[in-house]
Amino acid sequence: MNNADLQQRKEAAIARGQANMAPVYVDRALNSEVWDVEGNRHIDFGAGIAVLNTGHNHPKVKAAVLAQMERFTHTCVMVNPYESAVALAEKLNAAAPGNTPKKSIFVTTGAEAVENCVKIARAHTGRPGIIAFNGGYHGRTNMTLGLTGKVAPYKIGFGPFPSDIYHVPYPNDYLGITEDQAFADLQMRFTCDIEASRVAAILIEPVQGEGGFYKASSSFLQKLRALCDEHGILLIIDEIQSGFGRTGTLFCHEQAGVEADLMTTAKGIAAGMPLAAVVGKADIMDAPVPGGLGGTYGGSPVGCAAGLAVFDVIEEEKLCDRATEVGAYFVKHLTEIQAEYPQLIGDVRNAGAMIAIEFVHDGDVNKPYPELAKKLPAIAAKHGLILLACGIRGNVIRFLPALTIEMDLIDEGMDIFKACLKEALA
Ligand code: PMP
Repeated sequence: MNNADLQQRKEAAIARGQANMAPVYVDRALNSEVWDVEGNRHIDFGAGIAVLNTGHNHPKVKAAVLAQMERFTHTCVMVNPYESAVALAEKLNAAAPGNTPKKSIFVTTGAEAVENCVKIARAHTGRPGIIAFNGGYHGRTNMTLGLTGKVAPYKIGFGPFPSDIYHVPYPNDYLGITEDQAFADLQMRFTCDIEASRVAAILIEPVQGEGGFYKASSSFLQKLRALCDEHGILLIIDEIQSGFGRTGTLFCHEQAGVEADLMTTAKGIAAGMPLAAVVGKADIMDAPVPGGLGGTYGGSPVGCAAGLAVFDVIEEEKLCDRATEVGAYFVKHLTEIQAEYPQLIGDVRNAGAMIAIEFVHDGDVNKPYPELAKKLPAIAAKHGLILLACGIRGNVIRFLPALTIEMDLIDEGMDIFKACLKEALA
């Protein structure tokens, strides 16, 4: 078996819409290293898109999953539940920022979690409207595509999208969108598009993920909270990419001292087992009628076992602190590289271990260089490094290492990254 043959079979068997970034077929993986079918070793700076915060095959998570599989793999939590689902919901309810009593539901994917937030918000408020942000990413179902604020490649050819969704600018210092402008534009929606009394919720990522790792300031989130309170609108915070220790706290928005009405979590929650959850204020969560929420696989016993182990590992190994350390270490490397290429790397930024650089021409923020960000992951794949691109303008390379990554692997990966950059520019 080799990568090229597998890629050929893949292209014949799997529709092109489900494209893959690199023709690297995985054989096995451990913490931040992946070995492909040809025996090549790859350093993983992507962690399966922010899923493996506890690393590949963490022994405790693996043991919990295997032990669960020995007992049973499925009953459907809506038919015959089990203690692990209750215990994980209790942990999520206690961990969600803010003091209001919380409840949770389990689903399978991040998109479903976002979609369920909309259902719950509408059931609670009796209102239709949702305000989301330009550059936001919330999933690939029809509702979440409607909420996503980036056309290519997600929305192309897939409309019509649901109505009563309004997009507003996300504050972005680097791109020159001030917090005041963004907030004023949001308020304008109540004049130009929909009366505030018909808006069910405002949906925001505390750090835009696919959009390019732009972080909303604490004061912006606080202003949103106040605006929501003024108009009886719910604040939904999408923590799918930023959650589970990734930004230095268990959930990113706790840094702003803000309490969400509803919060989504997925990805890092269960280290690769398909699990996602909505956590929210108990009275809001209880608005939908019994049986109105759920799904066959939501809260799978294997996923819940992994989720409980992930909570333990994050605490035992102090992974929130580790996210801060790892982020700072990446930034140190990247600012050194930026000093070598000041015209090319317009920005180095991070929120804990959500780390990004932005490629531009002539050091000019208004001249994005997406071709380079597109080229790099493909070159990196040939040299044993897993890299991800992103960004509303497509010109961002993001680094999402496991929070358990060894420091010397960061050094080694950064050496490869520098060589790839040279090769891309040659
Ligand atoms: N919201 C955010 C912020 C995300 O980053 C993602 C996934 N990249 C989603 C929602 C959708 O999650 P999923 O792919 O599990 O449906």
